[in-house]
Amino acid sequence: MHDFRTVAVLGAGTMGRGIAQVCAQAGFVTRLFDVAPGQVDAALGSIRAGLERAIEKGKITNESRSETLGALVACADLARACADADLVIEAAPESMDLKVELLGRARDAALPHALLASNTSSLSITELGRRLAAPARTLGLHFFNPPPVMELLEVVHGVDTSAETVDAALLLARRLGKTPIVVRDAPGFATSRLGVVIGAEAIRMLESGVASVVDIDRAMELGYRHPMGPLKLSDLVGLDVRLAILEHLHRELGEQFRPPSLLRQMVRAGRLGKKSGQGFYRWTERGPEV
Ligand code: NAD
Repeated sequence: MHDFRTVAVLGAGTMGRGIAQVCAQAGFVTRLFDVAPGQVDAALGSIRAGLERAIEKGKITNESRSETLGALVACADLARACADADLVIEAAPESMDLKVELLGRARDAALPHALLASNTSSLSITELGRRLAAPARTLGLHFFNPPPVMELLEVVHGVDTSAETVDAALLLARRLGKTPIVVRDAPGFATSRLGVVIGAEAIRMLESGVASVVDIDRAMELGYRHPMGPLKLSDLVGLDVRLAILEHLHRELGEQFRPPSLLRQMVRAGRLGKKSGQGFYRWTERGPEV
């Protein structure tokens, strides 16, 4: 049975930084790598700011903040990030070829028994495991945004993921303070497949003038008790991320997942949602504004 000590997180964007924080808070030595210059430093800055806010709200102590920061290691080199790691979690953009390339290098640098996990929202874990030539120890660990807050961890097993790997992932989930669900490898798993349908339909409704951005979101928040409306949630996820998921599900599952043209247009214009400052809402320090 795996006894994780060192975790390498590859990709320090929206998800990678949050996943790294969760792993560090659970007491793992957590190494964070990104290919883009400055991205790991930006990630550590935002983790630090988040921990400060948590102290102000009385949610964590100064001591636990120091322990979390002490467990995080910035790495400018992938092989160094993965050396001695017994768990690698990649959170790079939603492209199979990119994830194979990244986890392939990680597989060669990490411990021989290391689990190779992807935070993919939709791509096939079975294909990933086969292309890595390590199907038994390849799995999906699908965290939700923002990882320090969201309770769910979707554990995805490919056709040849071993039962031991799934058991280790379930224990890991508990150690991270998450509630796991186990899902068979299927496009979009149990979460993204449902989530993007609502998001895409909300965008089509906006395109055809059914209601305003705010009113479409209010409809689901007040009428169906969703904590956040589908357009705000799409902004939070990242419109480029949502588009990549829809494109994959459209290829795999058919017409109902065709990406709306407004979404394509916004991504082309660099309006990616919260991370770029502009999406369906304008995102400032004060939060989302119309
Ligand atoms: P993001 O665009 O915010 O971050 C991706 C990061 O990967 C960037 O910092 C980028 O510099 C880095 N990167 C690109 N190529 C790399 C490489 N070769 N090596 C190392 N780093 C590289 O994307 P994100 O929203 O964090 O999404 C990452 C993954 O998580 C995707 O597979 C996505 O589907 C999944 N996911 C996203 C969300 C969400 O709400 N955004 C939720 C669950 C899962």
